[in-house]
Amino acid sequence: MRTVRLTKESTKDILENLLKRSPNNYGKFEAAVADILANVKEKGDEALFSYTKEFDKVEVTPETIRVTEAEIEEAYKAVDASLLEVIRKALVNIRSYHEKQRQNSWFTSTENGTMLGQKVTPLNRVGVYVPGGKAVYPSSVLMNIVPAKVAGVPHIVMTTPPGKDGKVNPSTLVAAKEAGADEIYKVGGAQAIGALAYGTASIPKVDKIVGPGNIFVALAKKAVYGHVSIDSIAGPSEILVLADETANAHYVAADLLSQAEHDEMASAILITTSTELAQNVEKEIEGYLKVLSRKEIIEKSLENFGYILIAEDMDEAIEAANEIASEHMEIVTKNAFEVMMKVRNAGAIFIGEYSSEPLGDYFAGPNHVLPTNGTAKFFSALSVDDFIKKSSIVYYSRSALQEIHKDIIQFASSEQLTAHANSIAVRFEEEDKKEQS
Ligand code: NAD
Repeated sequence: MRTVRLTKESTKDILENLLKRSPNNYGKFEAAVADILANVKEKGDEALFSYTKEFDKVEVTPETIRVTEAEIEEAYKAVDASLLEVIRKALVNIRSYHEKQRQNSWFTSTENGTMLGQKVTPLNRVGVYVPGGKAVYPSSVLMNIVPAKVAGVPHIVMTTPPGKDGKVNPSTLVAAKEAGADEIYKVGGAQAIGALAYGTASIPKVDKIVGPGNIFVALAKKAVYGHVSIDSIAGPSEILVLADETANAHYVAADLLSQAEHDEMASAILITTSTELAQNVEKEIEGYLKVLSRKEIIEKSLENFGYILIAEDMDEAIEAANEIASEHMEIVTKNAFEVMMKVRNAGAIFIGEYSSEPLGDYFAGPNHVLPTNGTAKFFSALSVDDFIKKSSIVYYSRSALQEIHKDIIQFASSEQLTAHANSIAVRFEEEDKKEQS
C-alpha cells in the first residue's frame, strides 16, 4: 500500500495503473476465446462436452448436462439450514429493492386523435453465468436472477462449471432455485457463453447474457455482444473510502481489506484529509494481515493497486474520487450526505461507519453487479432496466395525420426520400388535388 500526497498528477498516475486491470488489456487470450466460440457455434454440444473435459476434467453428456430436480433436492439436504435461512432473508431485501425499479408502459393521448406511448416488455430468455472455478458465489446467483425475475423474464437459463465430482456446488443450486432459475446447465467458461449466445442441442439460445466470470468469460461476452446483449465486462473489484478525521481507522482498514481479498488485481484506495487517520489505517492493516486467511492475495493486491491518498481538503478528495469512479465508495466523514451529493461517479455509495461494503454484497438489497474500471462514469448497477426493452407506440387518426401531413412530406422530400413522402401523400391525394385545383 503506497501513501501518496494527492495531486492532479498522482491521480492521473493512479488511474493509469488501475486501467492496467481492464479485461481490454488481455488481448492475448482473445484468439483462444474466438476459437472456443467458433467451435461451439459449429459443433454445438460436442464442443461443450470436449471443453468441459479439457478444462473442468468432467465428462458431461446430453443426459447429465442439465441439473435435475433430484440434484436440486440433494443440494437442499447438503446446505446448512441456517445458510438457507440467510439466503431467504437476503432474497426478500433484494427483491423488494428491485421491485421499486420496475417500469410501467405508458400512453398519452390528445383531443385531435393521437396516442403515443412506450410499451415495456421483458426480455424472453436470459442466460445467467455463475462462476464456479475457484470459489462459490451464491450471492451472485441472487443478484443476477432477481432483477430478471422482477422484470418478468419468463425463461432464465443458468450455466455454471461443474466441480471435479461432476456436480454443481449445493449452495449455488439452492440459491438458483430460491431465486427462480428455470434451467441450470453444467458448463462454464467461454464455451458456456458460446452455448448461450448461439444455442446448442442441449442449451437454448438466449437474448441476453449476464453474470461475472474470469477473463475467458469476460472476453467471450465481449465477443458475442451484438449477437446477444450482455450486462457489462466486469473487471476486478474496487473500493474507495473517502474519510476525514472522524473515521474509525479500525473499521476503514477492515473495509479496504474486504475488497483486496477478492483477487490480486482488486484495488483498495483510501482518500483522506487526515494524516493521522492515514497512519492509523496503515497500522491497522498490518494487524489484520496477521489474522486474515487470504493474506497472500491481500498483500499482492495492496502492493499492486492499494493506495492511501492524502488530500488538502474534502473538495480535493471528492474531485479525485470522481476521477477514479470506483465500483464501491464508502463515505465516512462529517456531513456524509452532503459529501454524497457531490459524488458524481461511483457504482454504489455506502454512507457512514455502519454501512460497510459487504452489507451491499449480500444483504441490503441494491445489486452488487457494479461498473468497474472507471466505467461508473457512464454505467450503472445491474437493475431491472437490464431485463426489459421498450417499444414506442404511435397512433394517429386520419384527421390528426391530415393536419400535419404536409410537414412530413416536406421533411422527407428535403432528404430526397420520395417513397417516404409518398407513403404519407397517398393518403390525402384527393384533398390535396382539390386544394391545388
Ligand atoms: P469461472 O467460472 O469464471 O471460470 C472457470 C472456467 O474457466 C472453467 O470452467 C473453464 O471452462 C474456463 N477456463 C479455465 N482455464 C481455461 C483456459 N486455460 N482456457 C480456456 N478456458 C479456461 O471461475 P473462476 O476462474 O473462479 O473466476 C471467477 C471470476 O469471477 C473471478 O475473477 C472473480 O473475481 C469473478 N467474480 C466477480 C464477481 C463480481 O460481482 N464482479 C462476483 C463473483 C466472482
